[in-house]
Amino acid sequence: MLYLGCHLSASAGYLAMGETALSIGANTFQFFTRNPRGGDAKPLDLDDAAKLNALLEVNGFGKLIAHAPYTLNPCSAKPEVRDFAYRVFKDDLARMEAVPGNYYNFHPGSHVGQGIEAGIDQIVEIVNRVLTPELHTTILLETMSGKGSEVGSSFEELRAIIDRTECSDRIGVCLDTCHVSDAGYDIVGDLDGVLAEFDRVIGLERLKALHLNDSKNPRGARKDRHACIGEGTIGRETFRRIVNHPALKQLPMCLETPTDLEGYAREIALLRSFEA
Ligand code: FE
Ligand code: FE
Ligand code: ZN
Repeated sequence: MLYLGCHLSASAGYLAMGETALSIGANTFQFFTRNPRGGDAKPLDLDDAAKLNALLEVNGFGKLIAHAPYTLNPCSAKPEVRDFAYRVFKDDLARMEAVPGNYYNFHPGSHVGQGIEAGIDQIVEIVNRVLTPELHTTILLETMSGKGSEVGSSFEELRAIIDRTECSDRIGVCLDTCHVSDAGYDIVGDLDGVLAEFDRVIGLERLKALHLNDSKNPRGARKDRHACIGEGTIGRETFRRIVNHPALKQLPMCLETPTDLEGYAREIALLRSFEA
C-alpha cells in the first residue's frame, strides 16, 4: 500500500484535512503550519488535533508532512530574519506535539551572497537550538532546485548540515522530484544511480519522504516550477518507477502540483494505478 497524498489547506483545521484526504483517496498529506508567508499561527485546537490523530489511526495513514512557511530564511544575512525563522520553527515544533510522530519539512534557505559555508553554519545553529531531545517530530531538510543562492541543491550540502547537528537521529531528508531534477540529478535516465549517490553521500536511511512533482524545465535548469504528473520533463514513466522502487515505495509521497482537489484525486488514482 502506497502512502500518497498532496498539499492541503489547513484553513478549516486538522480534522477537516484528514477528511479531505480521505475524500480524494489520500492516506497521507502535507500542510503549512501557518500562513505560508510566515504570519501568526492559529491558536492550537487540541480537540481538533486529537480527532485527526484518531482518523489517521483508524484509516492507517502514513506519516504527515508539516511544511514550514517557505519564505523563512534560516541563513539570511540579516540577524533579525534568522531570529524570526528560529522563533517560527520553535513554535511550530511545540505545536507539532499535538500530532506527534510526524515530519516537519523546511527549506534550508538562501545564503544571499554570504556563501554556502556561512549559510550552512547558520542553518546548523538554528536546527541545534530548536531540535531538542524531548520532541516527537523528525525534521526534514528538503532537496532544493538551486535557484538563486539556495542551500541544499546538492546531496553534499545536505550531508554537511546533518553531520553537524545534534539529535541527528531525528533529522531526515524530503526529496522533491522537481527540485532534484532542476538541480541536475538525472532521475529520468538513471533513478538507480541518483539513489545510489544519495545513499553514498547521505545514506538512504535518512530519506523519509518524497514530494512528487513533474518539472516545467529541463534537468539542471535550477528554476523550480512544478508541473502536473506526466505533463513535464520528468514524465509518467519515471513516476511509475518511483512508486515501485524498493527504496521509495514505503515512504509518504505528497503532490505539490499546480492543480485543484479534483486534479489531486486524479493524480493519486493515476499513481496508485502504477503500483505493480
Ligand atoms: Fe517545499
Ligand atoms: Fe517540495
Ligand atoms: Zn518547489
